[in-house]
Amino acid sequence: MRALPALGLALILAACRPDGEVLTPHRLFAMATWVDVSLPPAALEREPDLIADIEAMLRQIEGDYYAFGDGELAAMNRSLTDSGRFDATPELAGLVAQARSIARATRGAFDPGVGALVELWGFAGSDVPTGSPSDEAIAATLAAFASIDALSVTGTRVEAPDTANAFLIDLGGIAKGFAVDRIVAMLESRGVATALVNAGGDLRVVGNRPDRPWRIGIAHPRSDGLLGTLELESGEAAFSSGDYERFFDDDGVRRHHILDPRTGYPVAHTQAVTVIATDGALADAAATALFVAGPDEWRSMGRALGIDAVLRVDASGRIDMTARMRDRFQRDPEVSSDIIAAAD
Ligand code: AMP
Ligand code: MG
Repeated sequence: MRALPALGLALILAACRPDGEVLTPHRLFAMATWVDVSLPPAALEREPDLIADIEAMLRQIEGDYYAFGDGELAAMNRSLTDSGRFDATPELAGLVAQARSIARATRGAFDPGVGALVELWGFAGSDVPTGSPSDEAIAATLAAFASIDALSVTGTRVEAPDTANAFLIDLGGIAKGFAVDRIVAMLESRGVATALVNAGGDLRVVGNRPDRPWRIGIAHPRSDGLLGTLELESGEAAFSSGDYERFFDDDGVRRHHILDPRTGYPVAHTQAVTVIATDGALADAAATALFVAGPDEWRSMGRALGIDAVLRVDASGRIDMTARMRDRFQRDPEVSSDIIAAAD
């Protein structure tokens, strides 16, 4: 998952409620990012173990859903490659099935099968690489591409067809959204009615503020300022993917961590994409997919995913958005916001 150059931007401004109650942020470091869970203080008086329980769950998720470690996803990759099948936990099986259907809907713009390419480019760990692999190495890795589309999920059994290619499923484009959804589910099951869960600028809200809508500041992809703010409704998630998160300069060409699985290279047509969805995992995967989709396909792929609020910044810095996003987005950077959604 991502490393975090822009931590300073992940700023929480306390969300004041009319009765004087304030949502207090509780900060954890997990999945290579700061995770802020902002709650009314009364929630912790009622549920004193809540933050510790969330932290324990995140530790498990960051281990199990990291392709390049030794948790459940790594075991799945080994087992699919060796024997063509794996008995997963219901949670992993569900996430693989969801990721596969998003890969299908986006005709491979989003494809967690991209793991071997991610590793080749040097984006598997938290370090940022300093140089590009050779064109030959990219072509060879692409020739051995094992798409998530090849997998079938029946209950908790994941199966792969007979293939010579090794599976290296990397859920880095969706796992943070899955983790945010799991936190939200835990909060709801413990009776928390109002909360904001922010994982390094990718976030989801629970309930409504009584005074005004939730307001999220969207980071400018090329400066420390804001592009603008967007309003969220109860339960909604806003996720961003950007070429400013993890990148290096290769002789004047910006190379970053979001690869087009169809070419083997980082895409060059887009600086940033932000989407709103009602589920964190979908929002996360959709932001990655629509980032890869490019100028001709992002609108139709958004529709194919059932996402109607999308903002895209192209390579020249031009902002384009859907009508539904226009209803939510304000250009005025002076509007006060609950949080700055700087994708880390
Ligand atoms: P995100 O920051 O959510 O856009 O996800 C980017 C991460 O997802 C990368 O660090 C890779 O681990 C992985 N990834 C890169 N390109 C793709 C892609 N086209 N489809 C799915 N996952 C990808
Ligand atoms: Mg994503």
